[in-house]
Amino acid sequence: MKTSTTLHIGSDLEDFLAEENMLDTTTAAALKRALVWQIQTEMKLQHLTKTSMAKRMNTSRSSLDRLLDENDTSLTLTTLASAAQALGKQIKIELVGTVSRGRNSMPFYNTGDTSKALCSECEAIVSTTFQLRDVPLSDNSKVVKDLLVSVCDCCGNICGLPQQSLPFVHRTLTQ
Ligand SMILES: [Zn+2]
Repeated sequence: MKTSTTLHIGSDLEDFLAEENMLDTTTAAALKRALVWQIQTEMKLQHLTKTSMAKRMNTSRSSLDRLLDENDTSLTLTTLASAAQALGKQIKIELVGTVSRGRNSMPFYNTGDTSKALCSECEAIVSTTFQLRDVPLSDNSKVVKDLLVSVCDCCGNICGLPQQSLPFVHRTLTQ
């Protein structure tokens, strides 16, 4: 049995959260992640290197790196507009709906609660149990202590991260 305890950050985390339908679309960090993902995808499609992207934006590589840093939420509209222009795209910003913070909108889990999730190791929908784990980030630089995660009952792989655990990950990332 293989036990994977590495929490992948970046696009992997995005997939990981999206699979679990736990993508928080309301925080600045989440907005930035979604934006960076779109810009990087478009750069790949257009075979744009960071250097040529920076040149098109009339900016420095370090400014572009800040734009592409998922944890840096201090993005200006000017930079955003210039990135969109460099990619031949337009930005569409909308305020939609209302944010519901009620218990009905997002389940709240306790240790020992069970659920179902897609296990990447078993490649199947499996039964999972919520457990507290010390989860190292993918670059092994930091460990998120006592993180509530859903663990595959078959192989012990971490299959998901409930919404309520995201602040703990963000806190560790920004420490
Ligand atoms: Zn599994």
